[in-house]
Amino acid sequence: MAIASINPATGITLQVFDELSDAALEDCLAQAAARFDQYRHTSFEQRAHWLTLTAEVLEGNKQHYGQLITAEMGKPLAAAISEVEKSAWVCRFYADHGAEFLAHRAVLTDASHSFVCYQPLGPILAVMPWNFPFWQVFRFAAPALMAGNVGLLKHASNVPQCALAIEAIFANAGFPPGVFQTLLIGAARVANVVADDRIKAATLTGSEAAGASLAAACGHQIKKTVLELGGTDPFIVMPSADLEAAVSSAATARMLNNGQSCIAAKRFLIHEAIVEAFLQGLKHQLMALQVGDPMVETTTLGPLATPRIVRDLVDQVQACLHLGAIALLGGDVLSFKAQLPPALQGGNWFPPTILTQIPAGTPADHEEFFGPVALVFAVKDLDQAIQIANSTPLGLGASGWSQDPDEQQRLTQELDAGAVFINSLVKSDPRLPFGGIKRSGYGRELGQEGIHEFVNIKTVWIK
Ligand code: NAP
Repeated sequence: MAIASINPATGITLQVFDELSDAALEDCLAQAAARFDQYRHTSFEQRAHWLTLTAEVLEGNKQHYGQLITAEMGKPLAAAISEVEKSAWVCRFYADHGAEFLAHRAVLTDASHSFVCYQPLGPILAVMPWNFPFWQVFRFAAPALMAGNVGLLKHASNVPQCALAIEAIFANAGFPPGVFQTLLIGAARVANVVADDRIKAATLTGSEAAGASLAAACGHQIKKTVLELGGTDPFIVMPSADLEAAVSSAATARMLNNGQSCIAAKRFLIHEAIVEAFLQGLKHQLMALQVGDPMVETTTLGPLATPRIVRDLVDQVQACLHLGAIALLGGDVLSFKAQLPPALQGGNWFPPTILTQIPAGTPADHEEFFGPVALVFAVKDLDQAIQIANSTPLGLGASGWSQDPDEQQRLTQELDAGAVFINSLVKSDPRLPFGGIKRSGYGRELGQEGIHEFVNIKTVWIK
């Protein structure tokens, strides 16, 4: 199978790569295992030094890497450059704090001395998505490498140039060969890699179907997994909220990354007393987006990453409209595309869209809409908002807007999600754990919790 880089703004193929042969894949696995035996004995100080150099390589070339991200998956260039900067931040974060997070922890028992220590597991497979093609990889790799593991990346098949660039970044920063390798392989070969004895654990960020498939393969082998899957994140606004701030954040939270973020706000649950004002404000914000070539500095909304994502979104929006929902804005791909310049006609475009008055029984009840579509529901009170928020099978993030301390308390305690942000959109931060519950996955990345996922938490008892 060929792995291709295709510009999503134009549909033009940029570069095509051959998949790794079985022999080349075997070399990578052998190199990872051999390297781990040496790398695990390097000091925290040495690993922190390499991670700091990694951050410097990223920062020193952020324009170049940003252009690579935009060319392959279509997010606006400024956002792509920010992603490279954030990737540098996570490297520095674990360089600065990894040793402290992994220090021996003494525990008082009836032994003369007992403690917990954290040891690396070995080669870890990371199956990663295209939507944050740098950030997702670095937030796995920085803690994993700091802990003494070695990494193997199976990146999404539409971002091979990013995948190869990341492998080169670690090498240029001085990490020894084999500490971080990119495997250009399709999804169909992941189960075989997982079955290999040399792979000790795996992590996947992506869809539920892919997560279930990887977890099943790992389950057969009794191997640890971390899964970061989709979200249908609620964004709840109560009458006491600062409405202007809520509307502005709602637009950002939904349209970030051209609407293709797992923690994008997807369902807006707005108190009925303010829903009309919210809708008008949101419409105004979305109409002000500059849609176009994501390489152009002023563009704020680019294309979707692949034709399949456009097709899926069209089906979901059509199903909602068919059952009675109203498109307050957008919804019609063909007329939107017709207004774009000829050079962009071959791209994967979807208009900024607001759906309201969505009846029960549509895909909006339980599916993730992975694109620039805001689903707005009026709610009569906080009870109903929390009930609808918790009614989906996913539980990644949630955002609640209220100035009332009692409402804030209820939102933080009663929403079923891996993170609740009050009066802010949901965002990832190297200092805080990140992950979901229910079908959004399990395990955590980032923070102190993230570096403890791929280590042997060893108990030591000395009498
Ligand atoms: P996807 O199809 O699941 O792809 C993600 C990765 O999994 C790719 O590398 C893909 O490889 C691989 N893959 C697909 N099927 C697989 C299988 N059966 N076995 C093993 N690997 C498999 O995901 P997507 O739809 O492109 O990405 C968007 C999804 O990711 C959304 O649901 C989004 O919410 C989620 N996401 C979650 C987080 C989080 O932190 N929770 C962050 C970002 C994105 P190929 O490209 O070769 O198919």
